[in-house]
Amino acid sequence: MSQKRDYYEVLGVSKGASDSEIKKAYRKLALKYHPDKNPDDSAAEEKFKEAAEAYEVLSTPEKKSRYDQFGHAGMGQGFGGGAGMNMDDIFSQFGDIFGGAFGGSFGGSRGGSRVVKGSNLRVKMKLTLEDIANGVKKKIKVNKLVNAEGVTYKTCSNCNGTGRITRMAQTFIGAMQTQSTCNVCQGAGKMIDKKPAGADQNGLKRQEEVIEIEIPAGVEEGMQLNVRGKGNAGPFNGVPGDLMVVIEEIEHPELKRDGDNVHYEAVVSFMDAVLGASVEVPTISGKAKIKVEPGTQSGKVLRLRGKGLSNVQGYGSGDMFVHINIWTPTKLTKKEKEIIEQLKDSENFIPNPENKDKGFFTKMRDMFS
Ligand SMILES: [Zn+2]
Repeated sequence: MSQKRDYYEVLGVSKGASDSEIKKAYRKLALKYHPDKNPDDSAAEEKFKEAAEAYEVLSTPEKKSRYDQFGHAGMGQGFGGGAGMNMDDIFSQFGDIFGGAFGGSFGGSRGGSRVVKGSNLRVKMKLTLEDIANGVKKKIKVNKLVNAEGVTYKTCSNCNGTGRITRMAQTFIGAMQTQSTCNVCQGAGKMIDKKPAGADQNGLKRQEEVIEIEIPAGVEEGMQLNVRGKGNAGPFNGVPGDLMVVIEEIEHPELKRDGDNVHYEAVVSFMDAVLGASVEVPTISGKAKIKVEPGTQSGKVLRLRGKGLSNVQGYGSGDMFVHINIWTPTKLTKKEKEIIEQLKDSENFIPNPENKDKGFFTKMRDMFS
């Protein structure tokens, strides 16, 4: 799906690295590849962005666990995560990493106000196994914040439109200039001028919107898709937040999912197992006929290659497993009973699993090992 480098590899830390190790590794890379130190060096800028994205994900517990579970597919195109951070996002992150003065000086070197991002919206989506197998487009109605019509903004009087408040602080190495984000405009440099009826203090109002979402094949229960820019509008003409879609699976009445594989318990008659038969089974793409060979034992598992679900990361498809169960009659007519009793002592009807080249139990063991 992508040739992106592994986030742990980017930061040069192991999978079990602690939060402080991750932070330390990122700090080192951010200083090395910082644009102020590498002017007009696009390779350094790429490294800088790559490290910031890796840190963004690995320093956020929720994103980290999603990344550990699904890799880049859990984050990349359509899934959001740290992908596509712009320089402003990166610099706004610096405050936590480098603390006070350091963060201020880096941020300050960029100058100007920043774009405020709207908040994210979260919705749940129930999907059938068929939806998941093929991928699906779904329309959902969301109640979200949009820019109210007729709203106007003026320059923030607290920061004079710079989005930042500069302070001089006395430290043991002398006077030092520190900057922080303006608490009135949240860094946007603007404040509301004309507020239409129904709008909140940021000039936003709630409105229902129908959004079409494309769900890729192979998604799983609990997976979160991140639809960029479909969340709440950003105040002061900022950028909208994201819409997070949490997947819920509706259990299939007959098929059981196990990762990319699908299992089905088939029940065949004793005669079909003895004589062989063509048996109809449900699959994720409709009914299919499978061949039960003459002399099939109960517990045999037939594997239908590629008939499972597409892997969400694009690694091919899973298989379908048909587990054969033989139906034992629970009542018999007098005539049926007579026939069965005639066969009872016939040599071929005496169980002898060792007779086969591979016994039933060996097969079971192979299946689950
Ligand atoms: Zn301000």
